[in-house]
Amino acid sequence: MEYRAEDRNISAEAAVAAPRPSSRPLALSPFFAGLTSIEGVGPRFAVLLGKLFDVQGGGEARVIDLLLHMPSGLIDRRAQPSIAEAMTGQLATLLVRVKKHNAPPRGNKRAPYRVICEDDTGDIELIFFHAERQYLEKLLPVGETRILSGRVERYGVKLQMPHPDYVVAENERDKLPGLEPVYPLSQGLTQKFLYKTLGRAFATLPKLPEWLDASILAGKGWPGFNDAIGALHRPVDDGDVDRHGHARARLAFDELFAGQLALALLRRRFRRAGGRALIGDGSVTARITGALPFSLTASQREALGQIGADMGTTGRMLRLLQGDVGSGKTVVALLAMAQAIEAGAQATLMAPTEILARQHYETIQPLAQAAGLQIALLTGREKGKARRIVLEALASGFVHIAIGTHALFQEDVAFADLGLAVIDEQHRFGVHQRFALQAKGKGGGTDILVMTATPIPRTLQMTHYGDMDVSKLTEKPAGRKPVTTRALPIERLEEVVRGLSRARREGQQVYWVCPLVESSMKVDLAAAEERAAHLRQTFGDSVAVIHGKTKGAEKDAIMREFSQGRLGILVATTVIEVGVNVPNATIMVIEHAECFGLAQLHQLRGRVGRGSAQSSCILLYATPLSETAHSRIDIMRQTEDGFLIAEEDLRLRGGGEILGTKQSGDPGFRVARLPGDEDLLEAAREQTKYLLAQDPDLTSPQGEAARLCLYLFERDEAIRLLRAG
Ligand code: ADP
Ligand code: MG
Repeated sequence: MEYRAEDRNISAEAAVAAPRPSSRPLALSPFFAGLTSIEGVGPRFAVLLGKLFDVQGGGEARVIDLLLHMPSGLIDRRAQPSIAEAMTGQLATLLVRVKKHNAPPRGNKRAPYRVICEDDTGDIELIFFHAERQYLEKLLPVGETRILSGRVERYGVKLQMPHPDYVVAENERDKLPGLEPVYPLSQGLTQKFLYKTLGRAFATLPKLPEWLDASILAGKGWPGFNDAIGALHRPVDDGDVDRHGHARARLAFDELFAGQLALALLRRRFRRAGGRALIGDGSVTARITGALPFSLTASQREALGQIGADMGTTGRMLRLLQGDVGSGKTVVALLAMAQAIEAGAQATLMAPTEILARQHYETIQPLAQAAGLQIALLTGREKGKARRIVLEALASGFVHIAIGTHALFQEDVAFADLGLAVIDEQHRFGVHQRFALQAKGKGGGTDILVMTATPIPRTLQMTHYGDMDVSKLTEKPAGRKPVTTRALPIERLEEVVRGLSRARREGQQVYWVCPLVESSMKVDLAAAEERAAHLRQTFGDSVAVIHGKTKGAEKDAIMREFSQGRLGILVATTVIEVGVNVPNATIMVIEHAECFGLAQLHQLRGRVGRGSAQSSCILLYATPLSETAHSRIDIMRQTEDGFLIAEEDLRLRGGGEILGTKQSGDPGFRVARLPGDEDLLEAAREQTKYLLAQDPDLTSPQGEAARLCLYLFERDEAIRLLRAG
């Protein structure tokens, strides 16, 4: 489940923008040939291979899919003892003469068919159950020599080999691998079949030119691309299929390199499509900062400085604003938008959920008013006339800032002149949505600021964004107290309820989160409703519940009541996970904490500790805890540092879902492993920089070869960007 990079989505989207040209060099055709073009692969196997390689949409698996299917281990058949030397329980490859066939007595289906073989040192019995006589007589003709390979067993004094893995004639010795790679399989496929098919596929492959510097190859001791593929599938020593071996490292590097190169080209293209400089006079920003009840942190000022400078250049901005939960990204976004408005353009702020969009709207409304700005809200719920009015106001330029959800991406939404788009909690959006926005600016030059609350470990950031510009909020607003985190078994629920009674008497507000135990909405509903009913026995009408089925208007009303302090306890499913901001809420109870991922727990806990009061987080868990669940809860108790938590999360999960890319069905890396291959990623990034500095258009022989690497790892779209300049 390693993470599987989102940048492929970029590809997909770019591909939609312009039809995919059939520009792939002919030399690569054998790599992309359907597997049915290989002898021995019929339609039935094609389906099975399609499943094995997880080919989407019923397409046919290709040679490259097979080549990049990494062996998971090795079978060593190199031991070639005499029969007398053969060791019980071990694999042996024996050179024997066939002495005699002993067919089972007629009518006895359960008795095995035996073939006695010998060499100068002794006899061995081959055992076959459910065997076909004719077949065996042809395979093992009496009096001939054969090479056998299989596991040797002892039955009394007899040496036996039940169902040898290989039986070949002496002149077919090359059909018997000394070291046999073992592959992950799916039902209906055998190791032998993959091995054989790979052998046939190899025969079709042309030798590719080298895209790596000779100095790297020499320094690392890596083979060329073809040789690396060869070593993995036809290993000659133990190290060849090793996870850290040269062959695999080379291919993992190539894969990461293709990714980095594609991202670098994409980014360059984005920059070159540059818009105009959004330079402000400070008038609007000053009015907003004047209306804020606090002063900016140094970190916020620094980030704003970077963002402002970037917006002020003629290049397009594509920048990530990274900051832990509660670090105050919203106000940074607002001030950046203010700068765009000062420059005469419009701005938009997009949130991943309805609740968040509304909350942003409500937070920003008074500040916008103080600064004399027109803002509008556009979500899936604005329909009919209300929607039309908003659309007109956007198109005419009357509205300065549009706040909303996905609804802002819809085709009929036109801005008079969109200068800056801010995307909040970006991981919820696909990359393609980011790009859909490009079209909305005058002259196509909309600057983009992506805000993410999930601290992204550097490795992820690199595979997903490449060398994207990043501004970081490294400190939280002053006066925040650390959140105390406690973990309790669910059996102690009543104790927690008593604790809440005290807190409620002091006027504190509480979030109570119930998980989606199963993916069925029904279960989700029931758990939250039931908990709310239970809490009402103690807290009466001050308890409200929000879940996936709660209607929009009702949800708004509940959120408003809660943020204004008229409700005491908000029971919710994870709909409140991201971004909700009610500073007076100081207690977060998370039920079935063991069901949540670390990043999610961190996000949830980030909903409290937003004001100056002491906050706490209570993790209620059901026993027994799995080892990872235990580690997650421990980490939550030990730290509030989002970066640390994200790194731990990555480690515990072995990669991936932090950015939520898993759902997008992204296949991601096939050879590279993250975490694990960070050093290769770093090297790939270096190589990318170096290559593009030497040969920006990839026209040198090495650059041309690098294009092949892009094709091989299916970053074709990057090549189109090259052509378009
Ligand atoms: P996040 O980075 O999680 O999106 P928000 O933007 O929601 O954080 O900010 C969290 C809370 O901190 C909000 O209540 C916001 O008003 C407040 N805040 C933001 N900046 C400051 C600051 N410099 N000083 C004090 N409070 C701040
Ligand atoms: Mg936020």
